Amino acid sequence: MTAEIICVGTELLLGDILNTNAQFLAQQLAQFGIPHYYQTVVGDNPARLQQVLAIACDRSEILIFTGGLGPTPDDLTTETIADFFGVPLEERPEILADIADKYNRRGREMTPSNRKQALIPQGAEILPNQWGTAPGIIWQPRPNLTILTFPGVPFEMQRMWQATAVPYLKSQGWGKEIIASRMLKFWGIAEAALAEKVAPFLNLSNPTVAPYASMGEVKLRVSAKAASAELADEMISPVAAQLQQIAGLDYYGADDDSLASVVGKLLQAANETLSVAESCTGGGLGSAIASVPGSSIYFQGGIISYDNQVKISLLGVNPDDLAQYGAVSETVAKQMAAGVRSLLSTTWGLSITGIAGPGGGTETKPVGLVYIGLAGPNGLVESCEHRFNPLQDRSLIRHFSTCSALDRLRR
Ligand code: ATP
Ligand code: MG
Repeated sequence: MTAEIICVGTELLLGDILNTNAQFLAQQLAQFGIPHYYQTVVGDNPARLQQVLAIACDRSEILIFTGGLGPTPDDLTTETIADFFGVPLEERPEILADIADKYNRRGREMTPSNRKQALIPQGAEILPNQWGTAPGIIWQPRPNLTILTFPGVPFEMQRMWQATAVPYLKSQGWGKEIIASRMLKFWGIAEAALAEKVAPFLNLSNPTVAPYASMGEVKLRVSAKAASAELADEMISPVAAQLQQIAGLDYYGADDDSLASVVGKLLQAANETLSVAESCTGGGLGSAIASVPGSSIYFQGGIISYDNQVKISLLGVNPDDLAQYGAVSETVAKQMAAGVRSLLSTTWGLSITGIAGPGGGTETKPVGLVYIGLAGPNGLVESCEHRFNPLQDRSLIRHFSTCSALDRLRR
């Protein structure tokens, strides 16, 4: 048995709204352990909706529709489905009475166009909608095919799903198995490199392991199907542990962990404090650190030393070194880190200086060149160079810089 999600609405095709209904339904199907291999978005167009139906009912046994149940002429999901199966629509008085009642309670008259919402295919059952006017249907137009329709408005759709589809799916024996996932997170390794390292795991079937890459970060989603969340967790844990071991220090956390929260935990456990000196990130590093609840325990603050004069006067960067090596250099990154560490008397001082672009790059110092400085106990002062892709967006280079600085401290 497989399910398929079909979202109807030209506004989805135009990109005006994000298809959050598909996301919600996909998560629900996963929770119920119902396999689902296809999602389709189609505009408010009967001919194309029929084409989609023709394909979908050949490959899936449960078709879940959202959108197009309203009273306006462009809402044609119900009539198109009925038409496709050659079944006439019939007016259901109980729907009509319900819609009239909803209007009355708000002191308004039902409009003639609402009558359309009382028309459903002969033999279909009504999925009541307490949250809006449009009811959905549950219908078996032929053996081994069940059609469920929901309105497009996410709030209504979700509540109707809980009230009608969930009990139905449970009555059909679904939901005895659930799919649970854990997202493992990595920084400092490319997706392809990680995928090669963990290649044998990518062929597992339960749990499954799948790589994802986004914004410089790589993730491995480990998903297991089991009778309960606890059992799924027991299946996920050993695989996660092996993946973590293979990745070594490139692994930094799971699920809700962020580089900043992981750094925070380490600092707190060691009873250490942190300060930052930032140039090209303009406060982004401090902001990331402070976004973690409870960060005041270890985060003292920082200096946004955007201008060279601020680097000299507040951080004690040597003007001669600035002139000789330039602000974007290993030497200055080190002096910024050491400067803020001593100014704010912290265990660690972390600094960023770089060229975020799009302008300002030269042949020897291109856009994307960033130095991370770190100063710590026992005279530790070091710096490392990063060369991010100069074609990348300014905001992305700043984001990579912040993450790389946090990653440096974590290691
Ligand atoms: P109504 O009675 O409100 O007209 P309907 O079933 O006809 O309900 P649509 O007209 O298709 O629903 O959509 C109503 C609104 O719901 C859309 O304008 C859009 O904002 C939102 N919507 C529709 N489909 C989706 C979707 N797949 N994901 C997120 N939002 C959606
Ligand atoms: Mg509508």
